[in-house]
Amino acid sequence: RLQLFATLKNSEAITKDNVRLEIACNIGKPADVDRVIEKNADGVGLFRSEFLYMNRNDFPSEEEQFNAYKTVAQRMKQKPVVIRTFDIGGDKELSYLEFPKEMNPFLGCRAIRFCLGRIDLFKTQLRAILRASAFGNIKIMFPMISVFEELVYAKQILEEVKESLRNEGIAFNEGLEVGMMIETPSAALLADIFAKHVDFFSIGTNDLIQYTLAVDRLNPHVSHLYSPYNPSVLRSIKNIIDAAHKENIWVGMCGEAASDPKLVPVLIGLGLDEFSMNPASVLEVKWMIQQHSKEEMKAIAEQVLQFATSDEIERFLDTNEKIHL
Ligand code: PEP
Ligand code: MG
Repeated sequence: RLQLFATLKNSEAITKDNVRLEIACNIGKPADVDRVIEKNADGVGLFRSEFLYMNRNDFPSEEEQFNAYKTVAQRMKQKPVVIRTFDIGGDKELSYLEFPKEMNPFLGCRAIRFCLGRIDLFKTQLRAILRASAFGNIKIMFPMISVFEELVYAKQILEEVKESLRNEGIAFNEGLEVGMMIETPSAALLADIFAKHVDFFSIGTNDLIQYTLAVDRLNPHVSHLYSPYNPSVLRSIKNIIDAAHKENIWVGMCGEAASDPKLVPVLIGLGLDEFSMNPASVLEVKWMIQQHSKEEMKAIAEQVLQFATSDEIERFLDTNEKIHL
């Protein structure tokens, strides 16, 4: 097994019929890059920037954030680094910030909703990311977009920050890609419209599952209902990928489902381009990719979409003996 892992590390994430997939990693702080490099991953598919804001007494300054983003971008050489603007609220609070008491924080003032209400903080972060983009292959991603106006507004603020950097003569990547997470059912249903206005999607299944099934992702009393195998979730993923490809943009996944070996063939069969995960899962996912042809995976995905329940789908996927590395 160790030997197999050693050969996997330097092999490509290629299907039996030579389709190349991107395997990237999720990180929360610059030091996490060690493990991304160690696994020889293709990039950082999700930098959860809110971790820079947690466990401290005040907001990080522009300079502090700039240094963190620049370090990650430089250490990844020219490989892509997707920085998600901060996703605070929901279950993540900041000790130094008065948060409104909410009955349903996951349905409340979270992520992009919070940022669009605190443009000062949002602009500081965008400035830091843009400045760092001069030192590597950085992309920006907005979390928790649920209505179209949020994307328009967020992009408008980004343009304002770019304009002021230009006026100050500060360098940034003019061609920087801007993407959004698809993690709400409304964004999934409007994916065809959103796809015309961004360079990429990344599917956040952790939230997409909770909102699609109306099941709190942290509530143990309903956790039996929380499943990435639910056909509604898989159909939603299919809709997102189809809409993205119609507009010729790439689509990744950075939720936990992206590293589920049982789902990897389904996701490739549906057309997913990029997988982003905890570094510990990289080799196993690469192995799964190498065991099948894209045609085989398309057939698996097609069959899976016929089922009515999570259980049937999971049992069907369990019959694929290649999941047992
Ligand atoms: C997700 O929702 O799938 C995701 C990747 O974001 P987070 O887990 O940080 O909410
Ligand atoms: Mg999320």
